Amino acid sequence: MTRVQSGDFLTKDQEYIWHAMRPYSPNATIIAEKAEGSWITDHNGQRLLDAMAGLWCVNVGYGRTELAEAAYEQLKKMAYFPLTQSHSPAIQLAEKLNEMLGDEYVIFFSNSGSEANETAFKIARQYHQQKGEHGRYKFISRYRAYHGNTMGSLAATGQAQRKYKYEPLAPGFIHVAPPDLYRGRDKEDTPSNELESVREIDRVMTWELSETIAGVIMEPIITGGGVIVPPDAYMTGVKEVCEKHGALLIVDEVICGFGRTGKPFGFMNYGVRPDIITMAKGITSAYLPLSATCVKKEIYDAFKGTEEYDYFRHVNTFGGNPAACALALKNIEIMEQEGLFDRSKELGENLLQKLQAQLGDHPFVGNVRGKGLLVGIELVQDKATKEPLDTKLVNQVITGCKEKGLIIGKNGATVAGFNNVLTLAPPLSIAEEDLDFAISILAQEIRRL
Ligand code: PMP
Repeated sequence: MTRVQSGDFLTKDQEYIWHAMRPYSPNATIIAEKAEGSWITDHNGQRLLDAMAGLWCVNVGYGRTELAEAAYEQLKKMAYFPLTQSHSPAIQLAEKLNEMLGDEYVIFFSNSGSEANETAFKIARQYHQQKGEHGRYKFISRYRAYHGNTMGSLAATGQAQRKYKYEPLAPGFIHVAPPDLYRGRDKEDTPSNELESVREIDRVMTWELSETIAGVIMEPIITGGGVIVPPDAYMTGVKEVCEKHGALLIVDEVICGFGRTGKPFGFMNYGVRPDIITMAKGITSAYLPLSATCVKKEIYDAFKGTEEYDYFRHVNTFGGNPAACALALKNIEIMEQEGLFDRSKELGENLLQKLQAQLGDHPFVGNVRGKGLLVGIELVQDKATKEPLDTKLVNQVITGCKEKGLIIGKNGATVAGFNNVLTLAPPLSIAEEDLDFAISILAQEIRRL
């Protein structure tokens, strides 16, 4: 078997790789060769600033040899042992996560965000059964949210384009509208119980019958659906409604977790205590696959005393593997030592201010929003009607940035014509001058429209 030579990479890529999320397009393909800090170098030697790394959660940046070493040392010592038994890297990581979460959670490890959410749904359903509430199987989630690619996590996903060709998905998932301060019905200073998007959840639970509802799943801030920052009282409102109807609140921290929104976890911005928290790529800064479903102790306790055959019948071969856990511990240590959670908050506030100052008046910039180093710029045809900007023009900005050495993303409702939110989410370790470089390229490309 001959190895593909660098000159052939583009053609061979087209031949062999089925790319996620887009049809093949040679112009859009970056074949990355190496990466350091916030910068990628492609196979032609072009350097690009990766201001999308945060959506993959490379939060501490690329090229951290300490992380590679942590995994290597553990692989040499003991490469694998299943968590049907136990091992010290997993125990230490679970303890560390409890310290960070500030509460008592029991942790089930998997490898991906989809699996972490799938695990959460199963635990929630069985928990209600353990308590004798056998009819509680339904989950409420929001349109525009993404929760994964498996039949359950995709059923929870509220993005039509991602799911309609694969139905029937897992039954029992109901969607409601997300809060949307820019286009929606909610206002920033409305009390939790008066927010229309909270009342909708309350009404749906009542009409569906409370005794059929297992829980609600939500990201603190919808990330992939267009950086939708809720009103401050929204999450508390959802938690109150869950308590009223006996449902669990599952918070998906797959992107918001580990500092993205300026706190260790996104829910910490809103003062709630979730019943179940799912987290994934940020736990290792995406260096190795690992995810966790963190379950409040009271929920775990409800499974105690169950016979072996009836106990939680769910297993994950690679979940919580020793090397990934050792690497995760090192990753968290780096984040804490370098103060990356606070850094995300401070740099994020500056970034928002600068973008608003430079682009706020532009006729195509409808809204600039975000929290921490997660920022969305919603492009519209007309500021008054808020009609989304033509996808071709949105893509023109992204391609223009790429040509000048900046990788940014676009997000939105992922239905035709509504994928109009440019997204900036650089590593939390990004240098301030690199952030200024990103702002200036982005501003140039938007002004060229
Ligand atoms: N939840 C959210 C909020 C996500 O953004 C993602 C993926 N980006 C997932 C879940 C699924 O994670 P994975 O791709 O690791 O399965």
